[in-house]
Amino acid sequence: MDCIFCKIVNGSIPSRKILETDNVLVFHDIQPAAPVHALIIPKKHIPTMNDATGDDFALLGEVLSAAQTAAKELGVAESGYRLINNCNSDGGQVVYHIHFHLLGGEKLGGLNA
Ligand code: C5P
Repeated sequence: MDCIFCKIVNGSIPSRKILETDNVLVFHDIQPAAPVHALIIPKKHIPTMNDATGDDFALLGEVLSAAQTAAKELGVAESGYRLINNCNSDGGQVVYHIHFHLLGGEKLGGLNA
């Protein structure tokens, strides 16, 4: 499968791992948009939020659990952070393997800032 995040999961493309469980991987984004910028992905290839069905929602719960743990490990849990999923073109999705961006380490602009 020609998916860059599947290649990160199987190790054929390197990444700076933050944590890994049986079903989830968390790694540093290669082009950080904030002092802390991690990506949380299910190991299973699900292209977009639109494609999640059935048991995928339990898996996405594991993704959120890993995001919570990563926020603590990265030291942004108390100061705060943002979790973002970009879906399809208007959402700005570039990599079609579901992922959440964890952004923090500074006061983030936009939305209600
Ligand atoms: O949500 P979106 O699809 O736009 O985000 C993809 C993210 O994956 C980008 O922030 C990009 O920097 C990151 N990326 C990465 N490592 C790669 C390829 C992309 O961290 N090898």
